Amino acid sequence: MSLFSAVEMAPRDPILGLNEQFAADTNPNKVNLGVGVYYDDNGKLPLLACVQKAEQAMMQAPKARGYLPIDGIAAYDSAVKNLVFGADSEPVKSGRVATVQGLGGTGGLKIGADFLKRLNPNAKVLISDPSWENHRALFTQAGFEVQSHRYYDAAKRGVDFEGMLADLQAAAPGTIVVLHACCHNPTGYDLTPAQWDQVIATVKAGNLVPFLDMAYQGFGQGIAEDGVAVAKALAAGLSFFVSTSFSKSFSLYGERVGALSVLCQDKAEADRVLSQLKIMIRTNYSNPPTHGGSVVAAVLNTPELRALWEEELAGMRTRIKQMRVALVEKLKAAGVKQDMSFITTQVGMFSYSGLTKDQMVRLRNEFGVYGTDTGRMCVAALNSKNIDYVCASIAKVV
Ligand code: PMP
Repeated sequence: MSLFSAVEMAPRDPILGLNEQFAADTNPNKVNLGVGVYYDDNGKLPLLACVQKAEQAMMQAPKARGYLPIDGIAAYDSAVKNLVFGADSEPVKSGRVATVQGLGGTGGLKIGADFLKRLNPNAKVLISDPSWENHRALFTQAGFEVQSHRYYDAAKRGVDFEGMLADLQAAAPGTIVVLHACCHNPTGYDLTPAQWDQVIATVKAGNLVPFLDMAYQGFGQGIAEDGVAVAKALAAGLSFFVSTSFSKSFSLYGERVGALSVLCQDKAEADRVLSQLKIMIRTNYSNPPTHGGSVVAAVLNTPELRALWEEELAGMRTRIKQMRVALVEKLKAAGVKQDMSFITTQVGMFSYSGLTKDQMVRLRNEFGVYGTDTGRMCVAALNSKNIDYVCASIAKVV
């Protein structure tokens, strides 16, 4: 008997497991559409020019690396507030937003989850069915019971909006509702602005607690357009949580740059909330790392770099849209009979392709085309060189 003899082997992370299988695959044509990463048309992970310029400037005047404040770099936190709520917005000016730097969007979600658990230990959490795999795991690990609300309608190839509203209406007051602010992962189906109005009204009427997950601001329709849910929740006078990730929008995945913002009713409340968020951070990892946050703060706060970032972000967004259009056309040309045009109505990195688990397994085993068993494919990993092969492979399995 050893101390660990009763420890069970945990199931493999579905996405990371897929990556390992991909790495071991010897098929020269293999294509990884499993993970949520944006690659350029050469299949390379981009290093944005705005990031390189910010880093070069930092190298010109190198700084020693002391500890950061618990809540992170002040210029970073204020840049996040400005991006999420608007630089001249009332909540930013009045100081009623509490923002902390987080370890990626995941870190922002976890700080929020830990804080909420202490605020209201008996609350339940509602996530969409389906959702990003880690939502359920993260809120469960924070001690919550996690349930799901209807979202994806496979038959309709879209959102089961009536079902979603009915489930939100049935939720108990205080229920935490995790909402994908834009670029829904995994389905790619977002709510329309009019549907957001109804969701926000329902959340308000039911005294639910909205937690907006903004992992892809700027990847969908544009920076402002992707902020529609935040703008509407703000206009409704709600108190709410927003987690931000710069992993995709800055192509800074490994730097773990993200944040949590909590919109409070006034500055005094925000100060108290901030003091509690800092305890969550202090007892987990003390304070965040310096590099990624400094880069993002420099880019967002320097007008030329900010303009360059917006241009580069638009470039990524446009390329994804082009790949969606090409996918629909080329699937048709490859002989796929069913109408695949729903792919262009989806937004963001992912497409729920509607392919079955068996078809996805065949794609992987026979053709080296990797997506998740649920039929999710990352369209941001398609390019002009691999798309024909992907389409020909799909045509052979459907
Ligand atoms: N939320 C959603 C919906 C995501 O898709 C992701 C990343 N795939 C995250 C949060 C986490 O982002 P990060 O990698 O910055 O932790």
